[in-house]
This record gives sequence, structure tokens and C-alpha cells, in this order.
Amino acid sequence: MGMRMKAFFGKNIALRREIMINDHLLARGIRDQAVLKAMREVPREAFVAAGMEELAYEDHPLPIGEGQTISQPYMVAYMAESLELSPADRVLEIGTGSGYAAAVLSRIVDTVRTVERIAVLVENARKRLEMLGYTNVHVLEGDGTLGWPEHAPYDAIVVTAGAPDLPRPLLMQLSVGGRLVIPVGATPYLQMLVRVRRVGEGEYRSEDLFPVRFVPLIGAAGWRESHEAG
Ligand code: SAM
Repeated sequence: MGMRMKAFFGKNIALRREIMINDHLLARGIRDQAVLKAMREVPREAFVAAGMEELAYEDHPLPIGEGQTISQPYMVAYMAESLELSPADRVLEIGTGSGYAAAVLSRIVDTVRTVERIAVLVENARKRLEMLGYTNVHVLEGDGTLGWPEHAPYDAIVVTAGAPDLPRPLLMQLSVGGRLVIPVGATPYLQMLVRVRRVGEGEYRSEDLFPVRFVPLIGAAGWRESHEAG
């Protein structure tokens, strides 16, 4: 982007963000005030690939390299709302990607831990989150289908890639009363967004939210690598 373009864009960014909140979030039923506030605060343009800043407030996923995407703003807000978060919650995200959703969650809860399997995405997300001052987000490189057991249990777990089944390690790492929001589907690119509540030590209740389309969750309790796009 050239200098003049940058100046023009800078002036309009607050406006664009506000339009995104109104047209894509409020108009489509997002009501959780903490989620709306967080979506107003986090600069999505800082999480998209260079040259794509102009598109940051359109309601679309965008490529972030490595065949992966930053999720569309509505989906980030919807998933955050579905987690029924409280300020003291400890949250685990699987699929850091750009780090955007983790940054949004970090404005709502106490601590966010996030796991990403692709090393360059981990590195970029860490740098970005540090630069922007999101000090309550911790990024781990690894297979998120195994969770992050050292810091379990979590009040909420969100998975931003499509799983073939509910990963058992994630169910085990939920606190009693905790919520897991995850896309689950019999094919790698089409899923049902599901919310699972741990209602007792060994008791879980699951409800379908709506059909979604995420990149596949690749790992020990996910799809095999051969299902990856590209
Ligand atoms: N939440 C991200 C954001 O805000 O930019 C979007 C995530 S993108 C739709 C899904 C991510 O899940 C990809 O970066 C992908 O590499 C990652 N992923 C897939 N399988 C994984 C696994 N087993 N463990 C951790 N990350 C995984």
C-alpha cells in the first residue's frame, strides 16, 4: 500500500470496523456485549497478510499462507459467544492461525492458550500478539488434538478446524461446567458446529449449532495429513 493510500485507509478503519460490527455481527444476532466490545478493540487488519488490509473488514475468511485462513469475523464472534465466557475463564483454542481469534478471546477472559501445528504460523502469530501487547495469550506449537494438558482443565475450548469426531483429549481437559465448541464432520471440509458441555465428571451433553466449512483438523485425534488441501 502506498503512503497516500495508507493515510486514507487509516482514517476509514474505525468506520469500517464499526460497519462490520453493525452489518455482520449485530444484524446477524450477536448479542454478547463482551464479544462485541472485543471485536471493536482488536485490529483485524494487523492479522491479515500484507496487502490484504483493505479486505480486513469484509465478512470473509482470508488466506494467511500455508493453505490456511483467518476465519470470517462473524464466525469468530459467533464461536466466542457460543462459549458463554466469563471474565475469570481460562480458555484453550486449537488452531491459532493468524492469532486473531485468540486476541479477541483475550479481551474477554483471563487467559488464552492456543495451539498451532504449523511452525511459521506459530512464529508469525507469536510476533504479532507480542507486538500488539496481548500478554495473556500463550502460543504452543504442536498437535492441538491432544490439547495442552499441562494447563488443564479449561473453562472453554474452541477448535477452529474441522474434526472427524470429538477429540477425547479435549473432552478430558474440560472442567466440569466447561464448554467445547468444535466443527465436526464426516468429510474434511464440511462440518456441523457442535457445543459440548461437561455436565459431570463423566457426563457430556452435545448440541448442534449450525453447518460450517473449516479447514481440516490434522492430528492424532483428527484427520490424517493426506486430507490437507493443496
Ligand atoms: N483461529 C484462526 C485465526 O483467527 O486466524 C483461524 C484458524 S484456521 C481456520 C485453522 C488453523 O488450525 C490452521 O492454522 C491450521 O494449521 C490449524 N490446525 C489444523 N490442525 C491442527 C492441529 N491438530 N493442532 C493445531 N492446529 C491445527
